[in-house]
Amino acid sequence: MMAARPRTCPYCHADAVARVVHGTPTTEPAKLADTPDARLGLGAGPGSDGAAFGCRACGTWWPSPHAELQDRYPLPGVRWPSRPPRALDEDRLRDLVRGSLLWGAVGDALGRPNETRPYSTLGHEDDPGFVRTFQPWHGWQGGPTGTITDDTQLTVLVARALARHGGLVDPDDLSRDLVAWLPEARGAGRATRAAVALLEEGRPWWEVGPTIDSAGNGAAMPAAPVGLAHALDPSPGPLCQIAVTQALPTHAAPVGVAGAVAMAAGVGAILRLSLAGRALDPVALVGFMVRAIVRLEAAPSAERKPPHALVYLRERLAEVPDLLRDDPAEVLAYTWTGAFALESVPAAVFCFLRASDDPAIVLLTAANTSHDTDTIASMAGQLVGARVGAERLRREHPEWWTEVEFRDELTELANELVALRAPRDAVPAMRDRRAGGQ
Ligand SMILES: [Mg+2]
Repeated sequence: MMAARPRTCPYCHADAVARVVHGTPTTEPAKLADTPDARLGLGAGPGSDGAAFGCRACGTWWPSPHAELQDRYPLPGVRWPSRPPRALDEDRLRDLVRGSLLWGAVGDALGRPNETRPYSTLGHEDDPGFVRTFQPWHGWQGGPTGTITDDTQLTVLVARALARHGGLVDPDDLSRDLVAWLPEARGAGRATRAAVALLEEGRPWWEVGPTIDSAGNGAAMPAAPVGLAHALDPSPGPLCQIAVTQALPTHAAPVGVAGAVAMAAGVGAILRLSLAGRALDPVALVGFMVRAIVRLEAAPSAERKPPHALVYLRERLAEVPDLLRDDPAEVLAYTWTGAFALESVPAAVFCFLRASDDPAIVLLTAANTSHDTDTIASMAGQLVGARVGAERLRREHPEWWTEVEFRDELTELANELVALRAPRDAVPAMRDRRAGGQ
């Protein structure tokens, strides 16, 4: 059966995709016909039905299994919930981008000691395990106070991938980066490990993601840089598409992808508001995140807590603004707090929105809940950091500023993400995207 033509190029996100069948382009032949059929090798791709697609804008072509996978994640024509700032304050932009990465890393380091706490609990200040600041950690391989885990490692990986490709994510490169990272991974989730093991065997990413089919939060935890890099784009469409691409090699289940898109969209919208000096309306922000993912989940997911109700991530997120005045212990026992995107993404959004101008409260609420505390605190930190910036971390929490691991590297990466706003190079050379090809 012939593969459906994807709406946008997965590499440059232009609406310029042409079908190529057995080397014969059916549209825009002048561009694609320049490439000899022998080089294209159409029909020989892994699992190929003989069809392939090419992008008239960037010149990239790819075989149909990949294209079909991209087409499984429909994105709506969503608009930003707020206008861009009238005049761009570059220093403020740099501070907010740094803030998202650094507060995210602080949350990761604060949350890690509680990662195994039982579900449905929220620490209280008189509990012996209540976290107020960085703790020495004896899990994984230990490390000094301020040591981060896989959440920040993967965020760095995605930020570097964006910086290397002018704000885009090349899933082939990202897959290679994941394979190279695995030996250094700090507490990586099971799905991520399983996916990277398959990538290491040489399986193409567009097969690996659906094979693992993970609904975990492993693609949501590093999605913030996508939002930071694209917050000032005229439309949030490319941001959402890039977040999908970033998720696919490891977390291709619709709710796993939706978690990544929601986080990238949320961070982008918050940064945009902060830069313009506008107030944050929780209903408007969450409404935007919901609209960004509204078509991604074709079916609801079963909650893991009894009675295992069927819920869409978009439904659970939409509930958050109504929960902000409730007891955090009750709310987090309601969302649950595991590595499931359906649980931890709404939990992080809740922790952020209930105290969005007080980053310490945001992070300590998240770090003192249960189970996947490092990821929830890291994602909540990425959200609040895009609102309050890095300077407040340095000024109000000098011990966190001093001790958080990779502060200088994260700061430099933030600068690189800001620099992506410069004009991009035009059309790159035609590249063969099949497994093993380059
Ligand atoms: Mg972690």
